[in-house]
Amino acid sequence: MSISPAKRNDVLRLSSTVSRIGASATLAASEKARQLRAKGMDVLDLGPGQPDFATPEAIREAGIRAIREGHTRYTPAAGIPELREAVASLYTLREGVTYRTDETMITAGGKQGLHNFFMSVLDPGDEVIIPTPYWVSIPEQVKLAGGQPVAVDTAEADAFELRTEAIAAACTDRTRVIVVNTPSNPSGAVVGGDEMRQLAELAIERGILLLLDECYADLVYEGAEHVTPLCFGEEAKAVTVVCGSCSKSYAMTGWRIGYLAAPREIIAACVRLQGHTTSNPASVSQYAALEALTGDQTPVRQMLATFAERRDRVIPRIRSLPGVECVEPKGAFYAFPNVSALFSEQYPTSTELAGYFIDEAHVVTVPGVAFGRDDFLRMSYATSMETLDRALDRLETACAVLAAG
Ligand code: PLP
Repeated sequence: MSISPAKRNDVLRLSSTVSRIGASATLAASEKARQLRAKGMDVLDLGPGQPDFATPEAIREAGIRAIREGHTRYTPAAGIPELREAVASLYTLREGVTYRTDETMITAGGKQGLHNFFMSVLDPGDEVIIPTPYWVSIPEQVKLAGGQPVAVDTAEADAFELRTEAIAAACTDRTRVIVVNTPSNPSGAVVGGDEMRQLAELAIERGILLLLDECYADLVYEGAEHVTPLCFGEEAKAVTVVCGSCSKSYAMTGWRIGYLAAPREIIAACVRLQGHTTSNPASVSQYAALEALTGDQTPVRQMLATFAERRDRVIPRIRSLPGVECVEPKGAFYAFPNVSALFSEQYPTSTELAGYFIDEAHVVTVPGVAFGRDDFLRMSYATSMETLDRALDRLETACAVLAAG
């Protein structure tokens, strides 16, 4: 049997939908670190988008208990009622607007929640306003759903604060969604109360959905406060879709549990979609997540305190690299320094500079271009203080070599 080259090409032809999207730069950075380690190199990885802590004990135990108690079958596609209820009360209690169970659903990580949402509301050509720097998967998910990403830059000089004026200026008749990621991955910016109110007013006035990606909601440092449009009442609730996740707050990235809270019609559509794609998120993980959301929150506070210590150590050191500037993150666990002063003929972009740091210093960072801002690199401080210190020692030396060259 043999297949002709032409037939082979036919067989392997990919859909135009999937051809529109690129690979995840953050996953690519982790893969690069893994490959170099496999070659025996001492690689220091500032790429990870996940806490370096173990999932807290009580949550792990809840997972084990779920297995022992036989919670190993399909659950409803939207998730177990107790967990949906826990999500509903989370927002009802925190925000003071009532959420019912059918206004929530459980997803396999925030990522699936976002995907469900875009697939459920976008038609071809619908525009989605995405402030930059953005989380890498957002524009790709919009494209997958047939939408049109519209990037709107936030200003480094303005600490990457989201400005409603700039968003309003980018709105057209085709605008369907405004993405608000607070705290932001990668900038760590946190949207303030006044700005959030203006965003909610804009969305209500123009009939646009606000997608609030609050996967880092619990990781906000002292001096900043996490606000959502929900605290402005029922009208704001009607235009808001919240996407949350257990991944970052509870160090549960591998368990794959996220959730959506949204108007009932949107949730119903997302549940239909999930019912025909993945069905329920892993049953055992849902029971673990129930413990995470309803149990003792001390571990979250402890992890946040550790991230704060690391931030306070790392930011001044990054700022002391020659010509490098770095806005102080108010939330999440990433630094997003402007490294354009280090660009040269040999290393003219964030991709080449990140490549240089891997080759010269064996330090992995993620090029800012993946977040829509090529003058920057993302450095995660979700790793030990020792690794951070060693990585910054090496980056200092690598920068000195650049300067000398
Ligand atoms: N949203 C943002 C801003 C993120 O950074 C991430 C993960 O990195 C996610 C959503 C999705 O995370 P998960 O699917 O693990 O819940």
